[in-house]
Amino acid sequence: MKGKIIIISAPSGCGKSTIIGEIMDRGNVELQFSVSATNRLPRKGETDGVNYYFLSTDDFLAKVAANEFVEFEEVYPGRFYGTLKSEIVRTIENGKNVVLDIDVKGGINVKKLFGDTAVTIFIMPPSVQALKERLINRGTDSPEVIKQRVEKAEYEISFAGEYDYTVVNDNLETAVDEVEKIIKDFIAK
Ligand code: ADP
Ligand code: 5GP
Repeated sequence: MKGKIIIISAPSGCGKSTIIGEIMDRGNVELQFSVSATNRLPRKGETDGVNYYFLSTDDFLAKVAANEFVEFEEVYPGRFYGTLKSEIVRTIENGKNVVLDIDVKGGINVKKLFGDTAVTIFIMPPSVQALKERLINRGTDSPEVIKQRVEKAEYEISFAGEYDYTVVNDNLETAVDEVEKIIKDFIAK
């Protein structure tokens, strides 16, 4: 049987990475993380090949030209992110499930490409103010970057209705439980 694709999207700072990490640590569902490529710089604690493949802009655009991406987006001005074919195609052909942490447009595009093989989950912040506070507390981005991400959040939230499921990340454990259940049910279908 082919593996399934779990697409998780949300504005930056909503807790996507935390939720995905927690579900993978629990190990109740078998999931492989799709490592995206990006031309942004690594944050403290991020590792090349684990969190992202960190590429130069030239290398990223060379992969675009070589048709190596399932999808890619300029999520922020000058900042590219893309899902590599090599990360998902072989994985699902081998019957393994793959989880994608990607932006709203990318998520909707991947769902269009893979149809019933994919489920889309939107993680909603309790409020835009809470989102801003989380980004400040995370301490990984400059005030300018935080401003840019908060400004984009309202736009991204407007896509939530196009997702199969929406989960509010207010209490982290509750959100992790909910997302885990959606994934379990989808895989069992
Ligand atoms: P994303 O991957 O969506 O950008 P992160 O997973 O990095 O977001 O989370 C952003 C920050 O918010 C992190 O510092 C994380 O520890 C914190 N966080 C995540 N979920 C919650 C929550 N439910 N309540 C409070 N803080 C949270
Ligand atoms: P960050 O810089 O905070 O890691 O990610 C910024 C945004 O880019 C997030 O919304 C994240 O989900 C998105 N993103 C990460 N990888 C991909 C990808 O491969 N494709 C697309 N379209 N977006 C991605």
